[in-house]
Amino acid sequence: MPPKEPVLVTCGLPYANGKCHIGHLRTYVPADIFVRALRKQGQNPVFVCGSDTHGTPIVVNAEEEKVTPKELVSKYHNHFEQVFKSMGINFSFYGNTDSPTSHARTTSIVEALIANGYVYPKTIRLAYCPKDKRFLPDRFVEGICPYCGASARGDECDQGCGKHLEPGEIKSAKCRICGTTAEYREQEHFFFRLSAFAGFLVDYLETLKGTPNAINYAKEWAKDLRDWCITRNLEWGVRFPGHDDLVVYVWVDAPIGYISFTEEWAAWQGEDWEKYWRRDSRIVHFIGGDIIYHHCIFWPAMLQGAGYTLPSDVVASGMLKIEDKKFSKSRGYVVWVDEDYLAKGFHPDLLRYYLASYTSHTKDLNFSWKVFQEKVNNELVAVLGNFIHRTVHFAHANFGGIPERTGGGIDGEVIDAITRAKAEVTSSFDEYEFKRLTDAVLALAAWGNTYFQSKEPWQLIKKDREQCAAVLRNCLQISGAIAILLEPVLPSKMEEAWGMLGQDGSVHDALFDDAVKEIKSRALEKPSVLFAKIEDSKIAEAEALLSSRVKAAESKANKASMIAPEDLARLDLRVGTVIKAEPIKGSDKLLRLEVDIGEAVPRQVVAGIAKTHASSALPGTQVVLVANMKPAKLFGVESRGMVLAADENGAVLLNPQTPVKNGTKIK
Ligand SMILES: [Zn+2]
Ligand SMILES: [Zn+2]
Repeated sequence: MPPKEPVLVTCGLPYANGKCHIGHLRTYVPADIFVRALRKQGQNPVFVCGSDTHGTPIVVNAEEEKVTPKELVSKYHNHFEQVFKSMGINFSFYGNTDSPTSHARTTSIVEALIANGYVYPKTIRLAYCPKDKRFLPDRFVEGICPYCGASARGDECDQGCGKHLEPGEIKSAKCRICGTTAEYREQEHFFFRLSAFAGFLVDYLETLKGTPNAINYAKEWAKDLRDWCITRNLEWGVRFPGHDDLVVYVWVDAPIGYISFTEEWAAWQGEDWEKYWRRDSRIVHFIGGDIIYHHCIFWPAMLQGAGYTLPSDVVASGMLKIEDKKFSKSRGYVVWVDEDYLAKGFHPDLLRYYLASYTSHTKDLNFSWKVFQEKVNNELVAVLGNFIHRTVHFAHANFGGIPERTGGGIDGEVIDAITRAKAEVTSSFDEYEFKRLTDAVLALAAWGNTYFQSKEPWQLIKKDREQCAAVLRNCLQISGAIAILLEPVLPSKMEEAWGMLGQDGSVHDALFDDAVKEIKSRALEKPSVLFAKIEDSKIAEAEALLSSRVKAAESKANKASMIAPEDLARLDLRVGTVIKAEPIKGSDKLLRLEVDIGEAVPRQVVAGIAKTHASSALPGTQVVLVANMKPAKLFGVESRGMVLAADENGAVLLNPQTPVKNGTKIK
């Protein structure tokens, strides 16, 4: 079946609010590999991306840094564009969502949704800061999640259940800027009728291709759709038509960037953007695993509602860990691409190789400096680089280049080995499994090393020069095939190898099919080292930088959590005696206690000590009780206090050294 054209590939937009880290590259590098591989199959994909410039985090940060949102955005836009270039990620166009084209396309799509009856007004109660005299959208407000009770931001329960929060949902809201307790005021906002797309989404998700993680989550979510509030009280963003005090929610205009960037690319290239977005085409979105909802539910519904072409594939990458710890900027578990990697002199292709070859695209990827060193030294240096180098070196030293063909062409078994690798490489893209690509090429290089070793050309050259020339031609054929097959992953290094092999043109323009075309005879120069071993000292330096950052984050967190004497004085700690203890029905962890703290009625307390304490042994024991805890209900039993225990292999109860009067205060 001929591949479907035209093809548009996009990457989730980096938010122009911070620097590029390895977590970003988890999505962008595989997308770039995919695009290069399509080109190697004779296709002509367009590859667009750009900066996501709107939304409250940017406005909040700009206010804190005392710059305008535009200034903040432009700084990080330039940074990302530069890092992507350095990493060999070649977009056809890299735009930003604040461009006039992006504003115009967003307005036009919102107007189409309104005209088609998919947007309706509704008055909602929203957090409002009486001191700053303004409504508090999204990140301008902090409070309590209505679903799980954890501390949350206005738009997301980031520390608890992870649910997206709609405007007005957050409880106990406080102004993020001045700390004032927010009031709730009514205002008219506009909602996208997502619920009207339930049937459409069920059918659409049956046809959607990509990675199973994206599609399976989306199928679950499609069963329970809530309408989305698509307006916010902000100055910065795309105006909601006809309302000067409202902008559209950033998740409306961010994906529309995919369309406006295609338009800007098309205007520049004299092409027609409607080929991609108004007619039959193949649209492939590469995204991080945290924005599946936006791309598989919200975005296709918007496109359908406004009459645009639907995405055909959504490819979601797994998460990133740093040295086996959860990625976290605030805790210091981060590797910045610019200052920690490129500026330290590491070659961009080595990181591209790591990201492609470490694990399946949808699984969690752990970045470890030691593993990085091992992969480079054991795979790229010892197997791949070694094979290409010894082959070119031997040909140069003994024949002055790639020897002339004598007798037959390339051996059948060599062509078979290359054909197998090529088939594996091309099929890996259908499943978006880039590790299969690198594994297949590494296996081909290992096969080449064994072939070279078994033919002993260093013996053959003394006995049968013609036979030796034939063996060398076979090995050089494999080297050329490796350069072509691995170019999507290691574009600059494989171009270097291509140059060492003296082949015509650029390896970037070679097709996968060229891997089995007979290599041309050429004079060769003495080869340089393709991959150098990474020394232990270099890795130790990188690890030291990471651990110093983690330590700095820890001490910052410790300082932030220091408390003043008056904070401690707020705790009402009392000694009491357990009068009664019994299990709680339905729980194997909890006990119901009655504790005498000198009050008229003993306190009823629920304690998580059932695994370590028999209820019959507790009466008569003195304990320390937090007497001014907010009452809470656990398994239907009200708890009015908390018993203190040391937390080691279960609970060890605290009590005074000698018995004291019930109700004695602890200071
Ligand atoms: Zn929650
Ligand atoms: Zn305020």
